[in-house]
Amino acid sequence: MSGSPFKIRRIYFLYWILVAYAIAALVWWYIALMQQNTSMTSLRLQEVSATDSGYTEKINAIKAASKRKETQYIGEGSIFFLLIVAGAVVLFRAVNNQFKLTRQQQHFMMAVTHELKTPIAVMKLNLETLQRRRLVAEVQVNLLRKTIQENNRMNALCNNLLLSTQMEGGRYKPTMEKMDWIAFVEQRVREQEERFPEWNVRFEKTGFGHVSGDHFLLQIALDNLLDNARKYSPKLEPITIRVFESDGEMFLSVSDRGIGILDADKKLVFEKFYRSARQENQGAKGTGLGLFLVNRIVKAHGGRVWVEDNDPQGASFLLALKKQHA
Ligand code: ADP
Repeated sequence: MSGSPFKIRRIYFLYWILVAYAIAALVWWYIALMQQNTSMTSLRLQEVSATDSGYTEKINAIKAASKRKETQYIGEGSIFFLLIVAGAVVLFRAVNNQFKLTRQQQHFMMAVTHELKTPIAVMKLNLETLQRRRLVAEVQVNLLRKTIQENNRMNALCNNLLLSTQMEGGRYKPTMEKMDWIAFVEQRVREQEERFPEWNVRFEKTGFGHVSGDHFLLQIALDNLLDNARKYSPKLEPITIRVFESDGEMFLSVSDRGIGILDADKKLVFEKFYRSARQENQGAKGTGLGLFLVNRIVKAHGGRVWVEDNDPQGASFLLALKKQHA
């Protein structure tokens, strides 16, 4: 389902006109029946003469019948009204979600194309420069380092794409093994520090403990959180990674000093393809798959992941996994 905003607005307009028409018809039907009931009752009352035997009983019976009809119309009318409103809301939500998903998918396709094309173009340029020119060793090393960085970026994107499809289709079977949580995170952070020397990272660890996890999946989850912290915060601002143990769980927090996440977005960012309008406007590129995948991975491990405001500013992503007892 797709369409221009104008077409969509026209569809919504026609839809609400139809709903309003159905409600107006219902109200009209209700008023007509009530009026009919009143006139039938008064006709019946006129037919009864004051000299008839059992006059009062007859009058009471006619009035009671009229009351019953009224109650019946009110009951039926209310049920119809509720059904129309509930149906209209359910249908509106379903169609609206479908439009939203289509829009997000279109953005996603554009983002993926961009995310794939940029590293390819940069790698090509770097390699051509290396091929054509005689460069001093230092420049050569720098160009190669940047080429590897771009290659890693493309690799991470392909992993995210592949893994989302596999996990959704239930085709990825995690291989659980006992992992030293703190050593695992520290090693990954150090590796990333080497890849991004300009990165201002602080690593803090307390406690000790193992988790049962799939090495590859947890690595992807961690990389996505670290990537985001880098992507959505100014270059020199510190990114703090903490690993600790508390109440039978092993924790990880990744905190940055970026623009942070609005309260309204704190749950939505974990949805597939969701990108906050702030990022869309500020031009940070992405596909909206990273946190969706983090959430999927953490759930597959029976853990929890959520986001809080960082103090004094920025976002703090927290992840908790059950501690495995030795
Ligand atoms: P992507 O980064 O590819 O857009 P993600 O699923 O990783 O996709 O993130 C979804 C959205 O959550 C991002 O578009 C961004 O709006 C928001 N977000 C994620 N991490 C951060 C962060 N550290 N600071 C601010 N916003 C963030």
